[in-house]
Amino acid sequence: MSKLFYRSTRGTDNWLESSEAMIKGIASDGGLYVPEVIPKINQPLDKMLSMNYQELAFYIISKFFADFTAEELKYCIRKAYDKKFDDPLIAPLLQKDKAFFLELFHGPTLAFKDLALSILPHLLSTAARKNAINKKIMILTATSGDTGKAALEGFAGVEGTKIMVFYPKDGVSIIQERHMTTQTGDNTCVVAVKGNFDDTQSGVKEIFSDRIFSRELNRNGYILSSANSINIGRLIPQIVYYVYAYLNLSKQEKIKADEKVNIVVPTGNFGNILAAYYAKKMGLPVGRLICASNENNVLYDFINTGIYNKKRKLIVTSSPSMDILVSSNLERLLYDISGRNADTVNSLINDLNTKGEFKITAGMKNEMADFYGGFATDRETFETIKHVFYRFGYLMDTHTAVGYNVYRKYVDESGDRTKTIIVSTASPFKFPGSVSRAIDKKYKDMDEFSLVEVLSDISGQKIPETIKSLSKRKILHNTICEVGQMKDVLRDMLGI
Ligand SMILES: *Cc1c(COP(=O)(O)O)cnc(C)c1O
Repeated sequence: MSKLFYRSTRGTDNWLESSEAMIKGIASDGGLYVPEVIPKINQPLDKMLSMNYQELAFYIISKFFADFTAEELKYCIRKAYDKKFDDPLIAPLLQKDKAFFLELFHGPTLAFKDLALSILPHLLSTAARKNAINKKIMILTATSGDTGKAALEGFAGVEGTKIMVFYPKDGVSIIQERHMTTQTGDNTCVVAVKGNFDDTQSGVKEIFSDRIFSRELNRNGYILSSANSINIGRLIPQIVYYVYAYLNLSKQEKIKADEKVNIVVPTGNFGNILAAYYAKKMGLPVGRLICASNENNVLYDFINTGIYNKKRKLIVTSSPSMDILVSSNLERLLYDISGRNADTVNSLINDLNTKGEFKITAGMKNEMADFYGGFATDRETFETIKHVFYRFGYLMDTHTAVGYNVYRKYVDESGDRTKTIIVSTASPFKFPGSVSRAIDKKYKDMDEFSLVEVLSDISGQKIPETIKSLSKRKILHNTICEVGQMKDVLRDMLGI
């Protein structure tokens, strides 16, 4: 395989192979790693129709991670996309009315992050081996609920890795907490922190920036790493399901050869939609990329005005995984639309850090013409869940509903009749409170465990296994600590 190097969007950290970029996670200049070029899909799409998810994953991922051997990648893919997904298709595509829902919630934590977090641990441990790093990878994560559990599931039992997840004691739902505290795998550790999410996250950041502590860990055989969504080991595997969905449409004869499709992505950190953009750059026939935000509509404003402004209050919405004011992965798009100009990126990011906003040039804005930005309020989100459920018998979670709402707005505004894939990022069973309340207010005082049953009754869908067994599973983690004790808790886990 020919070499493909990675470079930082901020210009000073270049010529890394993918395995090195994965281990480093973020570049030393603070930038994100991007491939030198986006490889092309270099065979006719109709020759690819017989590929299953795993075969397609190999075809796409091997183009980006060219320093991995075929055996290494196949091993990672086999370990990632197996029976832990409750649908053998991994990412099934369902037609409801005129829209096609790409269901990315059939993994162990019922949300799309499973697609990337089930392969990242294997890529990382393989990368460490390739680079002759004879240390264990110690993953640290602060979580407001969802990412932490998905990371735990991904890393549990993966050789050469350990993972510690910190969550705010009173900042996660009962179901989320139970999911984490019942986590199995003797390389996993879950700790509740007395404080809110910001305190917890600051504590983790403090650990990452403490060089002396990091040397202490190195001496004891560990390197610190994170499972953050800016890691290329998470980003690249997300391209696969866009190509897969397109091929599925072809197979179902819903589109003609090379017909363009639009893609709607409920967006927070801009990782998932960036993968769709990369799929388009690889040559997939994609028309518009529709970026759906909730009331934290920074990206909506940015796409429409060219001004990114984070100086606003974070609003807590019913689609919490999209409650974000700074979308880290946007930096990779900025790099691209500036003609891969690291100086421009540096100056924009500098403006964001010092003034709280930046403005791109008209030329850069033109380069983003494929993107459409829309947003939905919480009220619209609830109405959308109810409408789609009664009209088409399809139960959506709150994040997917934001996507569907923005899709309808786009069609009404543009009259564009292009066939559209809506990315379904979470199962309705993951957010039983909001989803059932959207269907009928009478459920508003019931607890989450009972509401899961309600959702199953009204939708006729089976309760996912991971939730069903939850109340019976043994609690395996019960450590609670102060923010100031997080390092000691980590030393305890590692016995140092
Ligand atoms: C993380 C997440 C998102 C946002 O994805 P980004 O890649 O951060 O834009 C949307 N929906 C759900 C359910 C998520 O967990």
